[in-house]
Amino acid sequence: MSLTTPYYLIDKSKLLANMEKIALLRERSGAKALLALKCFATWSVFDFMRDYMDGTTSSSLNEVRLGHERFGKETHAYSVAYADYEIDEVVSHADKIIFNSIAQLDRFADKAAGIVRGLRLNPGISSSSFDLADPARPFSRLGEWDVKKVEPVMDRISGFMIHNNCENGDFDLFDRMLRVIEEKFAPLLKKAEWVSLGGGIHFTGETYPLEKFAERLKRFAGEYGVEVYLEPGEASITRSTTLETTVLDLLNNGKDLAIVDSSIEAHMLDLLIYREKAKLSPNTGPHRYMICGKSCLAGDIFGEFDFENELKVGDRISIQDAAGYTMVKKNWFNGVKMPAIAIRELDGEIKTVREFTYADYEESLS
Ligand SMILES: *Cc1c(COP(=O)(O)O)cnc(C)c1O
Repeated sequence: MSLTTPYYLIDKSKLLANMEKIALLRERSGAKALLALKCFATWSVFDFMRDYMDGTTSSSLNEVRLGHERFGKETHAYSVAYADYEIDEVVSHADKIIFNSIAQLDRFADKAAGIVRGLRLNPGISSSSFDLADPARPFSRLGEWDVKKVEPVMDRISGFMIHNNCENGDFDLFDRMLRVIEEKFAPLLKKAEWVSLGGGIHFTGETYPLEKFAERLKRFAGEYGVEVYLEPGEASITRSTTLETTVLDLLNNGKDLAIVDSSIEAHMLDLLIYREKAKLSPNTGPHRYMICGKSCLAGDIFGEFDFENELKVGDRISIQDAAGYTMVKKNWFNGVKMPAIAIRELDGEIKTVREFTYADYEESLS
């Protein structure tokens, strides 16, 4: 099958580098690592990832089911709120269920009585500087924070989930925030059997002090007598994938513009939401172009980048670091052709695992 752009290309050898770091961290720290499906749910590579991780965590019924059916191993269920019609099925797929509020824990006390239950805690601090993604923002709905309210329900739960890191590559900041968590929640942590510290920790990054991180997790586990979980999303798949596009047209409107057969809004939405530009490599050379998407959104722009040579129609543009929060968020805006999903195997062979057609577009609506 000849591969036409656009497509996401997952490179297993790059994914392997992250997986090996995760496996090393698990070994050194004793912590368990669950893939956060909300970041990455491309199940074609789950067979590959399974050997290096302990299971999955979820934020909805669909995700917990996918984790259970496609990844297996340990499956955590969490959701900001479960509906009455979902809860039985959620419980049927999960090893642990983590409620976002005491009210939900109460509401589903009977239905969830058969599995391990936990509660999300909100420590009121986070590493996020972007309001939209800050779980500790003012009036946050994400978790309980009042120790006095949580203590009385300790007979029904055995652990906690605390997610307050966000693309945090700074170990000292993680360490300081964990100390605040310990100070705030010590009476609860001492009664817990397990604590998940969530995702958002960039520990697979090249310069991250993995040994110090492992030691800190181990110390935390020892101090409170808890099993520690991590829920890496982005850290699991970072730098493993590119979005492969082709130049369709070139314009000069005071700047050199290149239009590609993709759309930042449809295929890499997070960049638009967080006002970040895409990553291109090597991004050096005398020819600067603004790389633009093909939707009719005026600001559908991947960014400005430098090239060694002048671009021509038909040139390939590879957008780097395109695994996290991309495939799970892609959409049919403008009816733009949805990128296929391809995998580069360890031996270099490229396999297309999914292509999207007009029928997929039509069937996404009625
Ligand atoms: C988003 C999220 C994660 C994954 O976060 P990453 O930044 O992708 O590592 C893990 N746990 C919870 C509860 C989350 O909301």
